[in-house]
Amino acid sequence: MILASRNDHKVRELGEMLPGVDLRPLPDEVPSPVEDGDSFADNALIKARSAREATGEAVVADDSGIEVEALGGRPGVRSARYAGEDATDAENLGKVLKEAAEAGGSRRARYVCVIALIDEAGEEHLFEAACEGELLEEPRGDGGFGYDPAFVPDATGPDDRRTMAEISPAEKNAISHRGKAAEMLAAHLAGRD
Ligand code: IMP
Repeated sequence: MILASRNDHKVRELGEMLPGVDLRPLPDEVPSPVEDGDSFADNALIKARSAREATGEAVVADDSGIEVEALGGRPGVRSARYAGEDATDAENLGKVLKEAAEAGGSRRARYVCVIALIDEAGEEHLFEAACEGELLEEPRGDGGFGYDPAFVPDATGPDDRRTMAEISPAEKNAISHRGKAAEMLAAHLAGRD
């Protein structure tokens, strides 16, 4: 099965979550499509359909991001490029924290991940999961990536104030939006859903 991504980290991580599946990255000669959908599902399908068309094989694609309540759900599908086309993780996080401080109000936030599968027969399936939590004012921790240093997940319990950048990768996979969506996909592939 092809994962519509050239990100080795993603291929390895999703591969570990899908035992028995031989997951391969998108071949170099296949162009990456423009991800201009209005939702995570739209973007996951754009990537999956383009990879399917180019390879004819079973494909999976994922799209994810963070929605901040005080910002009306932004940055959402623009999470990877919120502070500009080539923005770093730190710049994107800095912009979100500045806007959230200006907006005031709720500090609730959620990570969302949608995985799109196009199976051998060409049938499309979507698996969507969220990870709810709180956005801190000041980032903490060196693990994870993206918005993790400012995100305290609910799932570790009300007395655990560690951010996603302070918990282990295994702990993160067990509660994360991506881990949960991958688990739904794994259940589907194994005929358990
Ligand atoms: P994409 O799914 O690769 O298109 O990009 C998703 C973007 O959302 C990333 O570049 C991050 O900014 C953000 N994001 C998605 N999942 C996570 C996560 O688990 N931790 C931190 N940031 C995330």
